[in-house]
Amino acid sequence: MLLTSTLLGVILISMLSSYFLFREVTNLQVSHDKIEKMLFLRQYEYELLRTSKAFSDAYPNLLLGQTSEDFDNWFNVLWSRAHSLNTGIVGKDVTLAGFDYNQAQNALVVIDNILYPKKAVTKEQVLQIREIFELLTRTSHLYQQRRDSLYREVELKKQQTIFSYYRNSFFLSSITLLFGFIVSVFLYRSNKSLLDMRAKLEQRVAKRTLALQEKNLQLKSEVTERYSVEKQLVSSQAQIQQAKERAVHQLNFDPLTQLASRVLFTDRFSQSLIRASREKSKVALLFLDLDRFKYINDTLGHSVGDQLLIQTAKRITHALRQGDTAARFGGDEFAIVLPGINGIKHVEHVVNRIHKELSAPYTLEGQESFISASIGIAIYPDDGDSTEVLLRKADNAMYKAKDKGRNTYQFFTQQMEIESNKRRILEAALHVAVKNKEFSVHYQPIIDLRDNSIKAAEALIRWQNKQGEHISPAEFIPLAEELGLIVEIGEWVLRTACEEAASWQRNNDKSTILSVNLSFRQFQNNDIPKTVARILADTGLSAKNLSLEITEGLLMVDDMQIMQQLQQIRDLGVALAIDDFGTGYSSLSYLKKFPINVLKIDRAFIQDLTTDNADADLVRGIISLARTLKLTVIAEGVENQQQADFLMENDCLYTQGFFYSKALAINDFKDYMQKNLQQHRQSHSA
Ligand code: C2E
Ligand code: MG
Ligand code: MG
Repeated sequence: MLLTSTLLGVILISMLSSYFLFREVTNLQVSHDKIEKMLFLRQYEYELLRTSKAFSDAYPNLLLGQTSEDFDNWFNVLWSRAHSLNTGIVGKDVTLAGFDYNQAQNALVVIDNILYPKKAVTKEQVLQIREIFELLTRTSHLYQQRRDSLYREVELKKQQTIFSYYRNSFFLSSITLLFGFIVSVFLYRSNKSLLDMRAKLEQRVAKRTLALQEKNLQLKSEVTERYSVEKQLVSSQAQIQQAKERAVHQLNFDPLTQLASRVLFTDRFSQSLIRASREKSKVALLFLDLDRFKYINDTLGHSVGDQLLIQTAKRITHALRQGDTAARFGGDEFAIVLPGINGIKHVEHVVNRIHKELSAPYTLEGQESFISASIGIAIYPDDGDSTEVLLRKADNAMYKAKDKGRNTYQFFTQQMEIESNKRRILEAALHVAVKNKEFSVHYQPIIDLRDNSIKAAEALIRWQNKQGEHISPAEFIPLAEELGLIVEIGEWVLRTACEEAASWQRNNDKSTILSVNLSFRQFQNNDIPKTVARILADTGLSAKNLSLEITEGLLMVDDMQIMQQLQQIRDLGVALAIDDFGTGYSSLSYLKKFPINVLKIDRAFIQDLTTDNADADLVRGIISLARTLKLTVIAEGVENQQQADFLMENDCLYTQGFFYSKALAINDFKDYMQKNLQQHRQSHSA
């Protein structure tokens, strides 16, 4: 900055000096006026000389009155010149510069007065005039000489000034040049360093640009990668969302029937209870269980069972109103909420509609099948005010409906609560009983009516708990079946009874047949034939001395595996009996289809045999049917002579009942056998 200001200052001074120099040089020029004045005076001097010469030539030789033309001309010219000294611009300037105009004027007047008054000119006058001319010439010359020397001085001074200006200007120019040089060097150097800096900077920039380009490329690939990751993330989030929705759906809905799940149901039920409590209205909870669904599922297979459940769910939904909720609790259990009901009749109406819907035939694997349902009902707020309590009570009521003979419904009653508590206690006790072997086997004789001899003995389980109470198998066997404990219990009974029967054989009783009850649950593992074979082998009882009692229900389920197991049992040489015949489906077709040997008429028909004609006819029918199918018939529950007589008359040769003996503990039974044998022998000998 300082440098630049100094340089500018120097340049300014240099310019000033150049200006003054220029002005002086300009001044050196001879001005136009000056030339004019010089020419004017030279011309005057020339005219003066010519006039003086013309005068010399002409005078004093001229005669009186004569004039010299040449002199006249030149004298006139001189006059006009003198006149212009007075009037003309140049003449005035000359006069102002010190030329003695008056002298010239006066001299000319003197001359004119001498020469032109038409008289002769004397010698003295010629001399006077000559002297005047000489004086004028000298004066003019002196003037000019003086002026020229003056000019020369001035010029010299001027030259000196110009020279000093030149010197100054040169000096300043040199300084400017020097400064300029220094500045240039400085600028060059700083420029060079700037250039270096710039080059370095450019290098750095290039480097950075390269790095940035690389980074940019990296960034681009990262962005692409990130984009793809984000895409994956979005798609995986969508999958997660879907999975979540699926999970929520699975949580809330039964995947098979698409009815509400237990979770959703409980939620809706709780909500309807809250609403009902606000509106002071009633809510009915229906607990629905399909009758004998297990048979279908176990025998026709799970896929058929599933089909049935799907159809059932649709039918249930169809029977309901918009605001009702149906749910599947798993297996063949359904629950239904009927909010805003206005009385028992209302509930009965819905229940009847459900039963009606379900009663239509189902097409399963191309075959028409039927299924019914048992429905338990609990009402809010009459039977409870919490979801759990109402569910439990509806469940109890449903079991009661099943007990009542299925395909029906049952409202919850207080009695059920008591029963359900009893059942819970029994359940716990049964587990303990199995663990502690609290069971024993009793034997009820099956009598040949023809000679009252013992044809067979039915092994019947007995349970005496720690408190010494006897619990009926009618009570605990269904529970054991439900809990699956029957498999273990059944095998124990079979083994115990077979061991006993084997000992009779060893005591020379080769004919008494042992009849053992089998539950349908014992067929589920497909290993009952093997178990039977093993027990026979272990105990040494011969197969022909064993009969196994099964119920009609087992045969109803048209399952190859059951059929095979029954056949395998028959192949062992073991007989098969249908127990409680007449209480179930009493279908003739399965009697033909399955390898059955014995038919046991249920005691319900025997009971009223002698009083109820219909029962009598039925029993007759069964006996004749059995004969046709070459089956042995045993009448259960014979309690009096009349019944025995009726049976005898109608060719039912074998009976079992309290009339002969109830089921006896082993020792009592052995005594009974002994006595019977003796009586038999006596009657024979008699
Ligand atoms: P069930 O196989 O039909 O057995 C006959 C039932 O009728 C026995 O009842 C027997 O005591 C009873 N009974 C026999 N004669 C008469 C009579 O004249 N009048 C009356 N009122 N009853 C008579 P229990 O022993 O109480 O057995 C009930 C049911 O429990 C049996 O019916 C059978 O289904 C089942 N059960 C008993 N023991 C076993 C077992 O070891 N395994 C299996 N799976 N079930 C068994
Ligand atoms: Mg039986
Ligand atoms: Mg029976």
